[in-house]
Amino acid sequence: MNQLEKVRFAPSPTGHLHIGGARTALFNYLEAKNKGGTFLLRIEDTDAARSTKESEDVIIEDLRWLGIDWNEGIEVGGDFGPYRCTERPDIYKKYLNDLLEEGKAYKCYCTAEETEAERESQRAKGEMPRYSGKCSNLTKEEIDAYEAEGREHTIRFRVPTDKDIVINDEVRGEVIFESNGVGDFIIAKADGTPVYNFAVAVDDHLMEVTTIIRGEEHLSNTPRQVLIYEAFGWETPKFAHVSLILGEDRSKMSKRHGSTHVDQYRNKGYLPEAIINFLALLGWSPEGEEEIFSLKELEEMFTLDRVSKNPAVFDIKKLNWINGQYIRASDLDYITKLSIPYLLEAGLINDQDVENRYDWIKLIVSATRGNLDYLSQITDHVGIFFNDEVEFEDDKARKVIDLNQEHVPLVLKSFKEKVEEADKIDLDFAKTVFKKVQKDTGVKGKNLFMTVRVALTGQCQGPEMPDIIQILGKEGIIKRIDTAINK
Ligand code: GLU
Repeated sequence: MNQLEKVRFAPSPTGHLHIGGARTALFNYLEAKNKGGTFLLRIEDTDAARSTKESEDVIIEDLRWLGIDWNEGIEVGGDFGPYRCTERPDIYKKYLNDLLEEGKAYKCYCTAEETEAERESQRAKGEMPRYSGKCSNLTKEEIDAYEAEGREHTIRFRVPTDKDIVINDEVRGEVIFESNGVGDFIIAKADGTPVYNFAVAVDDHLMEVTTIIRGEEHLSNTPRQVLIYEAFGWETPKFAHVSLILGEDRSKMSKRHGSTHVDQYRNKGYLPEAIINFLALLGWSPEGEEEIFSLKELEEMFTLDRVSKNPAVFDIKKLNWINGQYIRASDLDYITKLSIPYLLEAGLINDQDVENRYDWIKLIVSATRGNLDYLSQITDHVGIFFNDEVEFEDDKARKVIDLNQEHVPLVLKSFKEKVEEADKIDLDFAKTVFKKVQKDTGVKGKNLFMTVRVALTGQCQGPEMPDIIQILGKEGIIKRIDTAINK
């Protein structure tokens, strides 16, 4: 049967969307898009104690913000729902009963303390801790006795002995696990709810998932899931375990390495396009040297055979570089709208400014976006436009407009005159004013440009002069030049 590719992202709603989770979602999305298949979103809330609706909402919001859309599952529906594990108890119950009836699973009456004590003693002997199988062959009398005692039971899967569990992983190649190392594992808790390894196999099968792309941290779960598929006589899906994301010190990425959640990057002013671009390169590589790709381009290029077995290193400098590229290349209105909240929050502008002086704000963004790795940094670069009391960055700057140099008062007075005479301080004026001042004063080059720049901004470097002139406007320029001249 030539089944269309169907992949899924199955986050547990126990926190914010992690960078690694977002990458898993993206690879699944790209695989589905590339093959014209289906991308399903399922909420895996089997861990009831840790799952929250709030976390589910944040994960969904972040996926939507990134532009990773799904065409089946939570919120969008489909033929294989419900798509939240806690809404599927009857389904799991049926399959648990099937396994119990066939003797492929059994009730285990061991208490948590008993199994922990067992593990402790195995560890003490230097053995790999695993369930001994104490309850695997209870007699009817023993069961009745436990029940009479009022003991609760879990359900354990009966793992076949001496069996190689072979996984042909799309990324890692053949991975073999010995069944003897697995130990009969719990598939349903005492309250009857299934654990992840059981629910995930049942759901992926019933939802007709063809390829499971997820993080390498799940590789050790895979033999258990494969055993469950086999117990039911189901075809196992393909697996692709994507390598871990490491911090720059090559240890597993964690809070120690800085922000690990998508929303932290969003709040700092990283663009979704840049995050997508960056995540795609964490473990996947295109042919050729090009590194900037839109989501659409990635959809066309992505294939699992270019996903690397080696761990990916989270390089914040690279993310900053990519984000900077997008900040500079994106539509200016888009970047302005995304920058406004930071300017508002810093109290540099207010709501009236946004309404009445939008074009002015846009100029400020245009003048400074070249310096930004992420948008919240904009507040560090716009000070020169908001403070008419020019502050000199250093002595070098101060010296540039030392009035004892003949050209300084000449240039500043002439420049001020031109500004006063102008009807409008627009781009046309800003582009032609220096020629006029040069003609009047005979001063040119650095003595002309740097003098004006430092008088207006206090800095020897910064945004383009035409931007500065337009942003400061008539009043701002005159005020600043007067201050410089009267020093
Ligand atoms: N719910 C799991 C997690 O959030 C995903 C498991 C899977 O993809 O099979 O890590």
